Amino acid sequence: MNQRQTSGPDEDRAQPQAKPSRRDVLAGLAVAAGLGLGSRVGLTQPRRVIRTLSADLDPSALSGIVLFHEHLSMRFPLGAAEHFTDDVALMTEEARAARADGVACLVDGGHADMGRNLDALRRITVESGLPVVASGGYYLQRAYPAGLAAQSVDELAEALAGEAGRERYGAFGEIGQQGGVMTPDEQKVFQAVAKVQARTGLPIFTHNAYLGTRPGADAVPRDTALRQLDVLEGAGATAAHVAIGHVCCLDDPKGETAIALARRGAYVGFDRVTIQLIPDAQKVTTIRSLLEAGHAERLLISSDFSSPRGLKKNGGGGLGQAVTVFAPLLREAGVGEAVLRQIFEENPKRFLAFVPKTDKA
Ligand SMILES: [Zn+2]
Ligand SMILES: [Zn+2]
Repeated sequence: MNQRQTSGPDEDRAQPQAKPSRRDVLAGLAVAAGLGLGSRVGLTQPRRVIRTLSADLDPSALSGIVLFHEHLSMRFPLGAAEHFTDDVALMTEEARAARADGVACLVDGGHADMGRNLDALRRITVESGLPVVASGGYYLQRAYPAGLAAQSVDELAEALAGEAGRERYGAFGEIGQQGGVMTPDEQKVFQAVAKVQARTGLPIFTHNAYLGTRPGADAVPRDTALRQLDVLEGAGATAAHVAIGHVCCLDDPKGETAIALARRGAYVGFDRVTIQLIPDAQKVTTIRSLLEAGHAERLLISSDFSSPRGLKKNGGGGLGQAVTVFAPLLREAGVGEAVLRQIFEENPKRFLAFVPKTDKA
């Protein structure tokens, strides 16, 4: 991970130098250009990591499928007295099965106001050996704690940054809106996580209310995904660290919204595969539109695992259903192995990797 050289061209650094040497200047340029020559003159190369509950992982050392939005612990409907994920032994068994399906790392998309239990996540990751990224933030208006309305954007951002550092969050998500237009509080939460993103580098993924072709679907404007990105960027977030979620639940076979997001440099979340608000076959069509437009590097796929029907125990595709159930549909549609590897391995690693900033992350 940290390539430190103990001999070689570093040795003459002991000599005091009035002016930076040519090599220092070159190395500085190399660092600025993102090349790896900084360590040769002792400059610290920015170290990108994926922050799981157990460790900061070197993305290049992580090989396998990475799922950026699933759930290992939650309560749904919100506030329910119990939920199938309460059974930690069951979820640990499912996490082991996901590893056997090739899943190398999984992001839990819940947080406190969705009933996510961090201790449960810690037990699942330790006992199954599956690296788990935990995330922070708030879900959507009806889930918000009572005190949120009185807090300013900066107060929320301060608290979220502190919590992220203490709890080892590796992302903020899922950050959502419950209707077609953000409420003032939802807008505040989006702005707060954007500010923390700018400060800590942590990535953000969102939730929106796209309903596929269900009655009432037209109450959610088609451009909701783009408006979410507007709010995040407007408050300081960088598109390359943002995934707009549930884009696969928009009835958009030509992929116009997906392509518009990708052009702006954001990740396009197809994170409800196997959920048939839009049939999976149509999702494949939209994905092909996005790929044909040249944006394979912006696509993220996950399944938002939240139904007991998906459990291996119940005969489902398991936590890895994005690859056990959905990926074969892409293969049948002619998507090649190299592109699949990019979508399921390289893209989510690039999305999750960030350079920890010393103060708050
Ligand atoms: Zn969601
Ligand atoms: Zn979710």
